[in-house]
Amino acid sequence: MDDPRANRSLEDIDRDTVFHPNTSIAEHLFVGPTIIEGASGVRVRDASGRRWLDAMAGLWCVNVGYGRRELAQAGARALEELAYFHTFASMSNPPMIRLADKITGLMREAGLPQLGKVFFANSGSEANDTAFKLVRYFNNLRGQPRKKKIIARLGGYHGTSVASGSLTGIDYYHRAFDLPIEGVLHAACPHHFAFAEPGESEPAFAARMAAGLSDLIEAEGAETIAAFFAEPIMGAGGVMMPPKGYFEAIQPILKANDILFVVDEVICGFGRTGAWFGSERYGLQPDLLTFAKGVTSGYFPTSGVVVCDDVWAVLAEGSKEIGAFAHGFTYSGHPVGAAIGLANLALIESEALVHNAATVGAYFKRTLEARLGDHPNVGQIRGEGLILGVELVADRQSGRRLAAGDPAHKKVAAAAFERGLITRAMVYVPVNAFSPPLCFTRADVDETVDLYARAVADVFGS
Ligand code: PLP
Repeated sequence: MDDPRANRSLEDIDRDTVFHPNTSIAEHLFVGPTIIEGASGVRVRDASGRRWLDAMAGLWCVNVGYGRRELAQAGARALEELAYFHTFASMSNPPMIRLADKITGLMREAGLPQLGKVFFANSGSEANDTAFKLVRYFNNLRGQPRKKKIIARLGGYHGTSVASGSLTGIDYYHRAFDLPIEGVLHAACPHHFAFAEPGESEPAFAARMAAGLSDLIEAEGAETIAAFFAEPIMGAGGVMMPPKGYFEAIQPILKANDILFVVDEVICGFGRTGAWFGSERYGLQPDLLTFAKGVTSGYFPTSGVVVCDDVWAVLAEGSKEIGAFAHGFTYSGHPVGAAIGLANLALIESEALVHNAATVGAYFKRTLEARLGDHPNVGQIRGEGLILGVELVADRQSGRRLAAGDPAHKKVAAAAFERGLITRAMVYVPVNAFSPPLCFTRADVDETVDLYARAVADVFGS
């Protein structure tokens, strides 16, 4: 008898066998997958030859663009030389050593010389989980076992594992998973456009946010708070920018209360904001800095935590007593990922992509403003470098916001997709995000803004 499974299309097999991340199962079973088969530059294509301009660089990660031979060749060479070996128990490999050296060099150039030690992992979630555990470990070693709570922020995104998903401050990622875990607190979301009082200036709003953090620390007891996690720009929540004066007010509060500052550079790192790191752009001095995505432009899953000298000194001293740092992953410091990372960072440098992100990003914002700045449903256009967001509203004139759950921004993203443009609809505030490859050109911007404006018109009728 013929096997009915033999003639299934890839779409059918996907429906039958794949459990997709961050996907509605019911919807997927109904619509099926979009199967991306290839990509080049800033464009991706499916099997039928349909093409999209990818203004999201995958998931904010393909910084050098698709199809770069330099990275493919670096990966192929590394696979031939040493496809794998672990880095537990002092085992090491040349690409990992060189990548750590490169990253700490970039830290020094970015005015962050205290960040001198790199711990490698695979994903952003793992990097943040590692930072989470490091914070506990640090306080255990220095004899402060009660100092364990971690403060993150509503609207922040730090991943989806049990610990990093708890740090994420978005109900959508908690609901039905019994998250956040105990000991994770969320401070208010510092997004001025949506959450300021009527007439409240950015500095006044920032001061209120900082006072709220102080109050939270005082109410919990500073002796119980270990760390504060923040993205420089809150990406997945809705490209929410730090209000003027916010980090300037927050950092001294953390210092005064002996609270570690963990900066999540998973999106902002490696050029996205038009500076090498968001910390550089906003004058942040992290104790721990997490990175992923842009370090390899997504060509290989590689991430990590960079640790400051003061924390390191405690770990190094404590290890004499406690023994091994009992944390790590089979693929920590993977030689292929590290080799690709080195080739990727060399490309970002040789093609001046950080500078390109700054200049083309500024042009992108101006072009969006010129085309959509007066649209009655566009509340705010914002961004820095090549991370931008358009926040939609019910009525711009009166400032009336969309009702909670209004899917307008999802409809716009879907309409854009139909027109051949990939943008994303964010979940915390109604925003369409843009985070294209850093090699984006002005012509790419023109095409993106034109397609996006048409998609907005498809949904709102003008
Ligand atoms: N941190 C930030 C700021 C992110 O945007 C993301 C992913 O989008 C993560 C962490 C989690 O990274 P991953 O999906 O690689 O676990």
